[in-house]
This record gives sequence, C-alpha cells and structure tokens, in this order.
Amino acid sequence: MTDLTHLTITEALNGLENKDFTSVELTQAHIDAMADAKHLNAYVTETPERALEQAQQSDKRRSEGKAGILDGIPLAIKDLFCTDGVQTTASSHILEGFVPTYESTVSGNLLRDGAVMLGKTSLDEFAMGSSNTTSYFGDVINPWKNKNRPDANLVPGGSSGGSASAVAARIAMGATGTDTGGSIRQPASFCGITGIKPTYGRCSRWGVVAFASSLDQAGPMARTIEDCALMLKSMAGHDPKDSTSAPKDVPDFTAGLTDDIKGLRIGIPKEYRMEGMSEEIDKLWEQGIAWLKDAGAEIVDISLPHTKYALPAYYIIAPAEASSNLARYDGVRYGLRVCDDGDNLIDMYEKTRAEGFGDEVKRRIMIGTYVLSAGYYDAYYVKAQKIRRLIAQDFTNAYEQCDVILTPTAPSEAFAIGENEEDPLTMYLNDVYTVSINLAGLPGLSIPAGLSKNGLPLGLQLVGKSWDEATILKVGQHIEKAANFTALPAIRTQKAA
Ligand code: GLN
Repeated sequence: MTDLTHLTITEALNGLENKDFTSVELTQAHIDAMADAKHLNAYVTETPERALEQAQQSDKRRSEGKAGILDGIPLAIKDLFCTDGVQTTASSHILEGFVPTYESTVSGNLLRDGAVMLGKTSLDEFAMGSSNTTSYFGDVINPWKNKNRPDANLVPGGSSGGSASAVAARIAMGATGTDTGGSIRQPASFCGITGIKPTYGRCSRWGVVAFASSLDQAGPMARTIEDCALMLKSMAGHDPKDSTSAPKDVPDFTAGLTDDIKGLRIGIPKEYRMEGMSEEIDKLWEQGIAWLKDAGAEIVDISLPHTKYALPAYYIIAPAEASSNLARYDGVRYGLRVCDDGDNLIDMYEKTRAEGFGDEVKRRIMIGTYVLSAGYYDAYYVKAQKIRRLIAQDFTNAYEQCDVILTPTAPSEAFAIGENEEDPLTMYLNDVYTVSINLAGLPGLSIPAGLSKNGLPLGLQLVGKSWDEATILKVGQHIEKAANFTALPAIRTQKAA
C-alpha cells in the first residue's frame, strides 16, 4: 500500500469511501509517522489512543452510511483550542496541566463532522510570535532544510508553527491554526503548505484561548486549497456563544472551486513593494501576476496608502488586548499556582505570573498595560484605533477597483532557529504583509508558489473582500495548479528514498 500519510484529505476521503483502507489504518499510519518525527517537536500533547478510538467509531459510522464530511480524517488541533478532557496549554507554563471540561466550537465542529484528533500542536506562547521559539515546551522544527546550510534547524514560522510543521511533515492531514497578525499564513509560507485566515467573525472564537480578541480568527491549514475549503466549511458558522461570530450562511467552499478567473480584477498594491525587498520574493510575486494574467485576469495597480502604519498600530492594539485578556491567569482559576507557605494573595498572583509567563508574553503585557494607562491611552491606543480605521478604509477604496489583492506572504524564507532573536523588532517585521489584513478583518490565504535558491518554500498571499473567501480560494487554486508545487520537505524525501 502507498504511504497513506501522503494523501490529501480529499484523496483520503475517496479511499475511505471506496474501502481501499479504513480510518483505523489511516490513523495508525499517522501515529507511526508521528513517532518517526518526534524530533520536530510539533505536538505538545499526542492523543494516539483517543485517535484510534475515534477512528474506530468513524469506520462504524461509514459502514452504516452515516459518514460526515471529514469522517475518519486524522487532524491536529493547535493547542490554543480548548479540547474536552485533553490538556490545553497555549504553549505556556501558566496553563500546564489545564484540562478543559468543554470543547471549543471550532474543534467541536470538526469532531461533529467525523474528524479524528491526533493531538495538540505547539505554538508560540499564547500565539505571540513568528518563529515558534517562545513555546514553554521547546522550539518546533521546520521539516524543510536550507540546502546551503544543511546542519541548521529552521523555524516553522509562527505562531501556528506546530500545525504547519505537522502538516508539511505528513504527521497530520490538516490542522487548525489561529491568525491574529499572520499566524496561519506566515507559517504556511515557511513550511510549503496552504492556510487561510477567514473573515473576522466567520469562525467562532468560543473556547479558543484569547490573545487579541478583535483580531483573532481560526482557520484551516492543509496541503491543498480544496482541503482547506473542506475544513473551513466544517469549522465555520454562526455560534450564539460568541457575540462576534457572524450570523452568515456558510457557502459550500469546495463547490465554488471552478478555476474560471477570466475577467477577475487582481489588485497589486504598490506600497507592498518595500525597500530592501529580496529579489527572490519580488520575482515570485511577478510570477504570480503572470500566472493570473495568462488565465485572463485583469491586473490593476492599487494603493493602500496607510500600509506603513500597520505594524506600529498592530503592536499597540494586540498587546493592549492581550494585557487585558491575560489578566485572568491569576493562579486561582487555571493551571499553575506558585504559592509558598505564608504567602498572601498578592504574593501568589505575582509569583505565579512571574514564573508562569515567558519573556515575550511579559513584554506584551507591559506594552499593553502602558498604552492603556491613563496618561498614554489617547496618545497610543486611541491613535492606533484611528489608524486601524484608515487601514480598513484603504481596502474598501481599493476594492472599488479590484476583486482580490495579490502580495507575497512573508518578507523571507524560513530562517534558522536563534536568528532574529536579539531584537524583537526584527521579529515583528515578519508580519509586514499580513497584519493589515487582520486590522481590516478581511480574509487572506497563503499558497506555496515556489522554492527559494536555498530550496525553501515561498508563499503568495491573496486577500479578499469581507465574506468572500470563495473568490480567494478559487484564485488560490489557480495559482496552485500553475505553481505545481510538488517538492517535499527533507524528512519525507529521506523516508521515501
Ligand atoms: N507574529 C504576530 C505576533 O507575534 C502574529 C501572531 C499571530 O497571528 N498570532 O503578534
């Protein structure tokens, strides 16, 4: 039998339906691959027994003709989604040992549709980061290797680095991610997979550990556009338990994948052609433009004039919301408590938070508290909110001239673990092409479009109008076909050899 872990979700669903293999076999193949790929450290918690049990139930459902749209498909869940009875850490020491008694709406939707959960994937602590090197449970390694520096371990990107690494290494067929400023799209780009951040409000945030509530959005990460479309259909939908979840019908995203993009207007924002942009990224972007033009799309130059303010505004708004959201970790309600004999309550709070949070999380809490403090609120927080409005308006204006926007996903290929760490600002630059989209609440996806000269994946980003995931998925599938990205990460080519 061919290695089942190499199938796409869609292929696996056909195989299950044709009785070529069972979900138990498919799940076991992934559990075996996970054991071989332990060094990637993609999972914080693996749940093989539970997975096999779910797979057995799935096989039973299928034999009774009751299979759901993802029945029997082994997936990974980012460890930011609360999972009933399974430890949920947000990759933080402060949540170590926290076992929710409820299931997040999004992971619950996937289970409802028959998905099998292989385990919980690592992330930057509380989803703050772009490299998955701030997890309390250690660095996650990208399965790809820089062919000119074969000894270096590379970052998978972040914060959904565990999910991206797992999907790329074929130790999950798909995974959930969350994206506050780029955390689905940038790791997807670094690991050569596809990921979509839906419109804000498309997926429920209920049961997802909050980072910055006005920006956080869950989305799928998988190896093809079609697989992402399928997962998104399951994950999305109105949830009365989340007041920011929108009462919108969920379209059949897979049915909309028609590949006909004739006449579509593709906007190319001139402000994204940044100074110092690498020649490779520029070439990739040009190639993307050429593919779409060849398919009959119309290329339109557009302007998003407030782009240069997006990063500074994001790095005020996101920490402000984080400092408020993270106030709940007090040593009483969740996970860790540090309490020596004779301590008073305040002492216990301080010791728990000092020990429980890592450096990056503390940095954000301090920035957030500062920009929200009485003397600085107007100067920083209110100003950032005004800029956010202008950024959103830029997109509204641009969409009078175009239907979809095409940009690179990230300014670089995957870098080595330890690089870019001396200065947090260099790390923040990773989000330069992605944060505006969160500030404006728009849908965006990343699709692998080529390899760098170091043999590493590079992604292109498509940004859509609000609620128009269908069009970016359609254009994304066109790029997918044109790019024909078939390269495999080192770990899998070695195995196949
Ligand atoms: N890298 C960005 C940050 O550190 C985005 C993170 C995210 O999207 N969760 O804030």
